[in-house]
Amino acid sequence: MSQKIAGVKGMNDLLPGELGGEMAPVETWQHVERTARELFARFGYGEIRTPMVEDTALFVRSVGEETDIVGKEMYTFEDKAGRSLSLRPEGTAPAVRAYIEHSVANQEPLTRWYYIGPMFRYERMKTGRYRQFFQIGAEAIGSREAAQDVELMDMVVQLLEALGLKEVSLNLNSLGDDACRPVFQQKLVEHLTAHRAELCEDCQRRLESNPMRVLDCKNAKCQAVVQAAPDILQFLCEPCKAHFGDVRRKLDVLGVRYVINPRIVRGLDYYTRTTFEFIAAHPALGTASTVGGGGRYDKLLKSLGGPDLPAVGFGLGLDRLTLLLKEGGQKYAPPPDVFIAVADEGSADEAFKLASRLRREGLRVEFDTRGGSLKSQMKRADKTRARFALVLGQTERESGKGQLKPMAGGEPIPVALNEVAQTVRAAH
Ligand code: ATP
Ligand code: MG
Repeated sequence: MSQKIAGVKGMNDLLPGELGGEMAPVETWQHVERTARELFARFGYGEIRTPMVEDTALFVRSVGEETDIVGKEMYTFEDKAGRSLSLRPEGTAPAVRAYIEHSVANQEPLTRWYYIGPMFRYERMKTGRYRQFFQIGAEAIGSREAAQDVELMDMVVQLLEALGLKEVSLNLNSLGDDACRPVFQQKLVEHLTAHRAELCEDCQRRLESNPMRVLDCKNAKCQAVVQAAPDILQFLCEPCKAHFGDVRRKLDVLGVRYVINPRIVRGLDYYTRTTFEFIAAHPALGTASTVGGGGRYDKLLKSLGGPDLPAVGFGLGLDRLTLLLKEGGQKYAPPPDVFIAVADEGSADEAFKLASRLRREGLRVEFDTRGGSLKSQMKRADKTRARFALVLGQTERESGKGQLKPMAGGEPIPVALNEVAQTVRAAH
């Protein structure tokens, strides 16, 4: 007997209908993707599709060596020529790499892109935390103004609204810049050093290499130390304070609600000034309650060898968004409009042709290609939750007329076989 081969741990199959187990049905994913594409286009964002694999150095230099992502979670391997490659753990660095590579700055002063696709991180799995997961993200390159930060946050807010997700709150912070962050960092190091023994091993190391990262540690003991740490917002220099004030004012102008949360640092090294997270109140996600986040990264382009241009972006977790929708009981798989059943062998071709024609005319049509008795076909019609069944036999063929039988009960609707699509559309 041949042995079964299982899928890779932490990487999910997404299946249609009710087949998928813990994961939301693929139709829910499609709904989110469709809604996002349609909405982002209204904001003037174009889609980019970059490879799943990049030079490892791209992530080491952008996301940062001391982050969990690069330090522990990356899928890194050598190709046959000995190059070190990594499956992308996030979408911003690849987008910026592509922006620089195609000299986009020379072609347009302000660039707005979005992406949808799989990301890979070798993480401990649980609900909402997988090794292949999907992000919808957007980047705006070329504007340093608060309006750009707020446009992006507004886009996420409108997406969540369009999806009917109400229990998600926007948490806002500023990380300052090169002028003011060092002052804060020094105070932070003083505080952390005083509590050094309480920190996890990683954070004791980070204390030397990258103390800001300690703020982002998930370890409960580190979190406790962090709670009493100095507040970064008290240390912002005048320009950063002004930018933060502008962001808040413009959020108010749009009527976007938010809470200030000075602990939001994000899991990547490249952020400056504005950072934000969208956090769901829903218990379904457990510890994976952050559906997305983002911020400004004004120094990243230059540090990757590109032009010195400011940028801001966000990334949302599609797995978590779809889990929230699934939890809310929403279903997005539309049932068939009509099930075409064959009454006798002599009508099989005519029925097959009718099904094909109705599909061409835009109806969702089910037809049992296995054939079988009328009874078994009607059972199947029931299962598919089709709105109507239409039985085609000799009588119907000869008269050119049939009946649309509502599967949920009720009077059959007489119909000419050449007007089925119109009649189905008109019947509400
Ligand atoms: P977390 O704090 O939950 O680990 P993160 O800060 O590592 O998240 P980001 O790198 O900011 O996450 O990614 C943005 C979004 O992508 C997250 O808010 C989340 O919705 C999603 N995401 C990140 N990692 C995973 C994962 N392993 N599985 C599923 N979704 C994920
Ligand atoms: Mg993480």
